[in-house]
Amino acid sequence: MPEERKNDEELNIAGVESTFSDLDRMAVHHGDLSDILRPGASNEELLDAILSAPSDKLIPWEECVLPSMGYYYGWPDGVCYVRPMGQTAEKILATQRLASSGQSIDYLFRECCKFPQGFDPSDLLLGDRIFILYFLRGITHGNMYEFAVTCPNGECEAINTHAYDLNDLIATVKTADPSIGQEPFKVVLPYLSDVTKRDFWVSVKFLRAYDANDMIARRRSRKKTFSPSGGVRSKSVAKQRAEEAAALRQSAVDPRQQQRQNVILDNALDDNLERVIVNVMGVDDRFKIKALVQKMHASDTATIREWLRNNTPGIENTVEIVCPDCGNEFKVELPITENFFRPSHK
Ligand SMILES: [Zn+2]
Repeated sequence: MPEERKNDEELNIAGVESTFSDLDRMAVHHGDLSDILRPGASNEELLDAILSAPSDKLIPWEECVLPSMGYYYGWPDGVCYVRPMGQTAEKILATQRLASSGQSIDYLFRECCKFPQGFDPSDLLLGDRIFILYFLRGITHGNMYEFAVTCPNGECEAINTHAYDLNDLIATVKTADPSIGQEPFKVVLPYLSDVTKRDFWVSVKFLRAYDANDMIARRRSRKKTFSPSGGVRSKSVAKQRAEEAAALRQSAVDPRQQQRQNVILDNALDDNLERVIVNVMGVDDRFKIKALVQKMHASDTATIREWLRNNTPGIENTVEIVCPDCGNEFKVELPITENFFRPSHK
């Protein structure tokens, strides 16, 4: 009997994979209960059928192909399985503020994702992690994602809500390039090669979820450089309306602010360039690597960053926006705010 059920589930998963095209990959899909629902059943029989159905059948796992193709994890392919959020996942998000803790994302992934045996989600490449977040949002609350943006035009600064179809992200996926081989990758530094009159190189790796968690934790302990948008809402009913308006203003993404944040993140990468560098000319002494990073010429650090930008698997989540009030065109990164894991307003 358990053996039979297992096969059944595997078939179910296989069915899901072939049913959805890329066009609606990031949308809500429903479990198929047709074989346990009896026509003409009473309400209580219906309820009992739902309660006795395996949870995988009610909320099915869906195939998710990661941008890395699993290439840097030693997987045979890039397939993991993701299921829409249920009660447990909601609780994780309610108790841990998503944007302020990368670790809550790891908890969420342990609940909503199935990876090949023994894989720890904190080992995910950052591009894969972001991809799963959007995927999870899409299959849980739907592919249309609405977010508020403040127009960066100083004369306007209108806050408007924009909608983005998460299915469009699929076309932006940059997959792993097997021709560059496995980590670590050799990157030749132009300035140091010129001055030493020989090939001067470092070996680099891609940033992982645990690197980002660490950077966030350090940044928070160092100084409150910026706070994630949105705040914990008061339960008071009387203030709710005013607070909703304030929350919209607060949750609105300001592209100028985002740029400043990106600068901060870039600095974080500079501070943590030694994280990316596995060795220098084969020397893996962490202290020496850190010391060299402090002395590096900007053209060398730029070379490393550019190499990573060009070769890291992931998605392009920068979207172009036209302000409906003033016609100003600008770009924002698709924000992951507190509204991210809430359904869009009707
Ligand atoms: Zn405007």
